[in-house]
This record gives sequence, structure tokens and C-alpha cells, in this order.
Amino acid sequence: MKQFENSKRAFAEASEYMPGGVNSPVRAFKNVGGDPLFIERGKGAHIEDIDHNVFIDYVLSWGPLILGHADDQVVADLQAATAKGTSYGAPTELETELAKKIQSIVPSMEMMRMVSSGTEATMSAIRLARGYTHREKIVKFIGNYHGHSDSLLVDAGSGVATFNINTSPGVPKDLAYDTLTVPYNDVEGVKAVFEANGDDIACAIVEPIAGNMGVIPGTQEFLQTLRDVTTAHGSVLIFDEVMSGFRAAYHGAQSLYGITPDLTTLGKVVGGGLPVGVFGGRRDIMMNITPAGNVYHAGTLSGNPLAMTGGLSTLAQLNESLYAEMSAKTTRLVEGIKQAADAHNVPVTVHHVGTMWSYFFNAGPVNNFDDVQASDVAYFAKFYKQLLQQGIYTAPSQFETNFMSSKHTDDDIQATINGFNAAFDAVE
Ligand code: PLP
Repeated sequence: MKQFENSKRAFAEASEYMPGGVNSPVRAFKNVGGDPLFIERGKGAHIEDIDHNVFIDYVLSWGPLILGHADDQVVADLQAATAKGTSYGAPTELETELAKKIQSIVPSMEMMRMVSSGTEATMSAIRLARGYTHREKIVKFIGNYHGHSDSLLVDAGSGVATFNINTSPGVPKDLAYDTLTVPYNDVEGVKAVFEANGDDIACAIVEPIAGNMGVIPGTQEFLQTLRDVTTAHGSVLIFDEVMSGFRAAYHGAQSLYGITPDLTTLGKVVGGGLPVGVFGGRRDIMMNITPAGNVYHAGTLSGNPLAMTGGLSTLAQLNESLYAEMSAKTTRLVEGIKQAADAHNVPVTVHHVGTMWSYFFNAGPVNNFDDVQASDVAYFAKFYKQLLQQGIYTAPSQFETNFMSSKHTDDDIQATINGFNAAFDAVE
């Protein structure tokens, strides 16, 4: 039996100083009824907690670590960058270099701005869309999560769903009123909301492949309808690829659907484990940002040299063939999980796209937030504890995504499938 005494003590102490003992809610393991692991170090596909338990890690810092923990090249590049200074608050060529690299991979991002989180990226993109269109309403989809800015904390996924909070207290009513929500993958719902409000809608923001209620791919018809109605009504279409960017595919979800959004938001992988977000897209829209235009955007640490280095060093190692390899590993893993569940007569639906994967304790189909909510979260919590005992660290919520890295080996994947089988055996 793995023991978690040191993590338990550390969590109790942290809870004295930080609400819930953490700095981001799902980390608290509240919904799986345990104490969170406190981490000492990571290397490649593995992490070690402060009780010296080692786990195969599929959380990967909630997505950023596509090259696994402490990749040798990323560490060396960061060390070299740190030695030169950590921040200047003045331009560096690293920012242009990263922007050029991103544009070469995601060509719809004709111009972009660097920020320090996905939340900042989506918040800034929304302000830009409102400033550009001179409209105030926005459309978002139930169960999609775009960070924790006020306008976007309505019917959201991720921790908001995990803790069953529809609209956070503290979000002004008027802002929530301007956020129109529609079920994910609901083509008729999209048409109806634009028919009723189209000329007041600044933008629609969507996770083209939802990852904050587990993995749920948007259907081609849903995303195409969204593209068509936003164009018809002069609204901005924002693809939030903070999670799916450099994850669902090398060129992002937009390349899989052949649909070009007006704006794209990125985060996670684009910083390689350092705090980076990016928003960008059509030049004529982006040129409204200060000081080119007058939609305000700023940041003391935006374009920070270490953050840019983390991104550049990570993106330099990515290419199409690495994605084919990681995607094949992900397929092997989820098929193994499905077989393990079937062998134990546990209803499960597994979804994966590229390096994103999730398992729902639900016979399926799982196409929207209502479907996800029909999952057996009580079983999930019991199962999760058994997985930890097997040395497997996955997202501690039914409403989150797991990830694959380039460092997971065939042996890691086989050990994970064996671990799932053993966890199904052990769960009461
Ligand atoms: N958008 C999406 C799709 C996300 O998955 C997330 C975070 O999980 C965000 C935005 C917010 O990013 P951050 O947590 O870096 O603020």
C-alpha cells in the first residue's frame, strides 16, 4: 500500500494559508475524497511525491508538458536564459521568434499578443472582439471552460463543473446576462441564438475539441455552423485552443476540421511549462489592440524571456511525425482501458483526439455536458484511489482531460493498462 503521510501533513499546513490548501481548485482532490499529492520532482513521464511514491503521470501539469517533465533541452535552454536575466519589461527578439514559430504552425494567427495565462488570452480576445464589433453579447457553450474571467465563468466546465457552480458568486449579473450559453454540439441551438440576438453578438468562443468536461470533440457540422452564422452576422469566431493547440494535432484542432477562426487563443504547451498564453488571428482585428489601436491590453510579464524560451525550446522539438507517434500511443492506451473495463463489466466510454484522452464511467454516447453529467462520479472517486495505489496519476475529476507525452514508453503504457485492470479488480 502506498502511504501519503507527508502529503497529508503538507496539505493540512497549506490549508492554513491558502483556501482549500491549493492555488487552483481541482488540485485539492476534494471530489475524489482524498488529500492531494504534494510533488517533489518529475522526470520524463514520471513524477515523485514527497512520500517518495512514483507515478506515471498523465496530468502533465494539466497539459503543458508535451515533452514530459524536465526535458533535458528545455532545462538547458531555460538555465542559459535565466543566467542572462529573468525579465526586462522591454522587447526582446525572443517574442518575435516565438510569434513567427507559432504563425508557421497555426497560419490563421496572422498577428498575436503574448500573455501569461490562458485566462488572460481568452479575456483579452473577448475584449478585443467586443471593441472591434462595438457589441457586448458573447456566446459560449455549456461545459466549455475558458479560464476564470468574469464573462466566461457562466455554465463552465473544469473546476466549475467539478464543484457544480453554474455561475460564480462575484460575477456581476449584467456580465452574466451578456453571456449567452448554448449546449455543446447543438447545431439548432447555435442557429437559434444567432437568429434571436445575432446583431448584438460580438463573438462566439468555443473549445473546438472540448477538454474541460473530459474530451468531447465538436462535430464538423456544429463547428461549420458556428463559422457560417458568425460570418453571416459579423461576429468574431474565437477558437479557444488553450488546451487543444499543439495537443489535438500539431497544427491545432482548426487543422483537423479545416475551419479557420477569426481569433485563436493558446496556452499550456505553447509555454512548455512556463506561464504563457497567446491570443491572435486576423490582422485587421488584431490591429485594434493598443498602441496600434485603442482596445487596451498590457502586462508586466507579457512576453517574459524565460516564458518565451520555454515555448521556443518546446516547439522546436515538435513535428508531425512526433504527433503521429504520440497519437498512436494514446490510441493503444485507451483501447487497453476500454478492454479492461469491458472485462470487468464496467460501462465506460473512452474518447481521444491526438494526445488528449479521457474515460467516462458512462455507457455513452457522450456528446455534451448533460451526457457527461450522467457519468458515475461516485465510482470515479473510488476508482481514482485505486489507480493511485497502482502508481497511475490521472486527472482527479470526471470533468477533465488526460494527456500523453513524447516520453511515455510502451512499457509505461502497458503498466498503465495493467494498473487499470488491477484498479477495476480492487474497487468495491
Ligand atoms: N481555455 C481552456 C480551453 C483551458 O483548458 C484553460 C485551462 O485549463 C483555460 C482557457 C485557462 O487557462 P489558464 O488556466 O492558463 O488560465
